[in-house]
Amino acid sequence: MELKSMLEYQELDRQVFMLEKKLRESDELKNANKVLAAFKQSQDVIVGLSSKAQQRMDAVVRLEEKYRRIARELEELDSESDNIEGVKEAEFYEKRLSEIGKTLKELEKDIIAANDDLKRLSGAISRELQDQQQLKTQYAAAKKKYDNLKITILKDAQPFVKQMEPLKKDIDPKLMERYLRVRNNKKMPVLVPYTASGGCGGCMMELSENEKGKLTASGICECPNCGRLVYKV
Ligand SMILES: [Zn+2]
Repeated sequence: MELKSMLEYQELDRQVFMLEKKLRESDELKNANKVLAAFKQSQDVIVGLSSKAQQRMDAVVRLEEKYRRIARELEELDSESDNIEGVKEAEFYEKRLSEIGKTLKELEKDIIAANDDLKRLSGAISRELQDQQQLKTQYAAAKKKYDNLKITILKDAQPFVKQMEPLKKDIDPKLMERYLRVRNNKKMPVLVPYTASGGCGGCMMELSENEKGKLTASGICECPNCGRLVYKV
């Protein structure tokens, strides 16, 4: 009696299962997931670009500090120019002046290059943000389509769910628990008949003596291979 209700329940549940599968494998879900994946990827790109931009900004600050320090050195050197005595000292002074001038020019070049990099990076970030905006719109549309399909499918499943409800009271909660455990592993049918050759009606593997003993004792055993519930009438 209990098995009969369980099998009846399974027949109805199989329809629900097929509808769930249709939703799970739908283009609507695939499309929504695809857009979501693209959005996440774009976020990763932004994180990478932002970290590079931060590095360049830090570099610019360091270069500018160095530039100011050396410019001060140049000023100091300039103020010493009145005290130069003799040719040798003048030569040294000229050499030092030219060195500092060269360093400052190089620093200027580095600062310009770092700023150019920064501009390029911030341009790339704003383009990525624009892409994200588009992806957000795309995702909203894809999600809406998926939600609509889900509503339709739930509606289609409703008559089966309604018929399944009264059958529950005839089914042992423990059996139902075992049934649901297999079903949650996306296996349908859960209950399969014991075959004439002594195997599982789901995966066809022959059952061990131990399993056959359980089958004789309680009418149901678990297939060690596929996990389905094997029943014998
Ligand atoms: Zn099996």
